[in-house]
Amino acid sequence: MLPRWVVARKLAARGQVLSGSVATGELSRLAAAVLETEAAVEVELAFAPGDEVAEIHGHIRVGVTLTCERCLEPVEIALAAAPALGLVRSDEDAAQLPARLEPCFVPTEELDLFDLVEEELLLALPIVARHQGACRGLGSLDPAAPVTAESPFRVLERLKPQR
Ligand SMILES: [Zn+2]
Repeated sequence: MLPRWVVARKLAARGQVLSGSVATGELSRLAAAVLETEAAVEVELAFAPGDEVAEIHGHIRVGVTLTCERCLEPVEIALAAAPALGLVRSDEDAAQLPARLEPCFVPTEELDLFDLVEEELLLALPIVARHQGACRGLGSLDPAAPVTAESPFRVLERLKPQR
């Protein structure tokens, strides 16, 4: 099991690598965004002191089930994220980050790794989920329904604030 709370800058100073799993039962926002998830997320996070700021480089992976937009049947998707994060305390710090790093706000000492993992997975969710091969909707079950146009509900969902 991955620990939930860590002192991120201390781990970074040591160049520590954490790997383990997070039970998806702990990730309620992810659960609400998908039909089903595997029992656990596989996580590897490499902390590094970095040149300008402490960095975290991660690999995060979990299988989820979404609804195929063409045929409305369940479709299994491997969600994967490979974040490259720079630890910052403020928006001013974030503005100084090199372009290869995304800001990870750690204003105090402790960082919630479960929240980090969940946030990355939510960002990795596809806007439209579809079967890659054998989709029953491929031949257009309903000829009146355009299969390529994005539904207005999806567009609205995307416009909602992410955090
Ligand atoms: Zn389908």
